[in-house]
Amino acid sequence: MGKIIAIANQKGGVGKTTTAINLSASLAALDYKTLIIDADPQANSTSGLGLNPKEVKNSIYECMVGLAGISESIIATELPNLEIIPSHIDLVGAEIEMINLANREGKMREVLEPIRNQYDFIIMDCSPSLGLITINSLTAADSVIIPVQCEYYALEGLGKLLNTIKIIQSRLNTKLVIEGILLTMYDLRLRLSNQVVNEVNSHFKNMVFDTIIPRNIRLSESPSFGIPAILHDAESKGSISYLNLAKEIVRKNGLLETV
Ligand code: ADP
Ligand code: MG
Repeated sequence: MGKIIAIANQKGGVGKTTTAINLSASLAALDYKTLIIDADPQANSTSGLGLNPKEVKNSIYECMVGLAGISESIIATELPNLEIIPSHIDLVGAEIEMINLANREGKMREVLEPIRNQYDFIIMDCSPSLGLITINSLTAADSVIIPVQCEYYALEGLGKLLNTIKIIQSRLNTKLVIEGILLTMYDLRLRLSNQVVNEVNSHFKNMVFDTIIPRNIRLSESPSFGIPAILHDAESKGSISYLNLAKEIVRKNGLLETV
């Protein structure tokens, strides 16, 4: 059964989308059949994988409000093992439309159930909010990755996120675990980056991934080409670091590395 991982942090610009795209691409490159779900109305994962969010017919929004079937909403990408369910701006409206639905926090889980067997991993890129769509993603997920940027105020808002995760664990999804805290945009030359690494490690100890994602130009420019960094420059530090993260997750989950 496919493992569902949400990438969440209500803080914007911490590397959620970069992680969703490049972790998914790396898992696919390791031969794991992977689906990325763009659960952010800003649709950055959608455009980052070469689709125009204004032109997508079905998005995760249509699936959740019952306007489209999940299977007909899956789109292939440039990578053979990677598929996407895109987003578009209407996802904002879905939060309001869903308020009166029965099981409104469990819609994502419901729509994913029939397809999860077709994948090894399903990765969800969450929006920078703790609204209903993110709650749906966390309710559907087996685990959550929390990207933390190696910057000032790195830990700001983390308490609130961890508290939300606790509430979801107790009320909506008892299976949910924290896959790990991921340090992103690390700059070796900056003392601040090193301070954040030390601070996060001392606060959260074994919750932190061994892999640290460096600040790397290939990671920031590849979305403009509509491809993951691994297809843009597989040898770049950014591509290699996300491949290492994928391997770390594969190992942690007791799966065999295929390459
Ligand atoms: P979020 O989805 O949390 O808002 P993004 O993944 O969109 O964050 O990242 C915010 C910005 O930082 C984007 O412009 C992205 O290209 C850039 N970025 C993210 N991670 C890295 C990195 N490791 N190196 C360089 N730029 C990065
Ligand atoms: Mg994003």
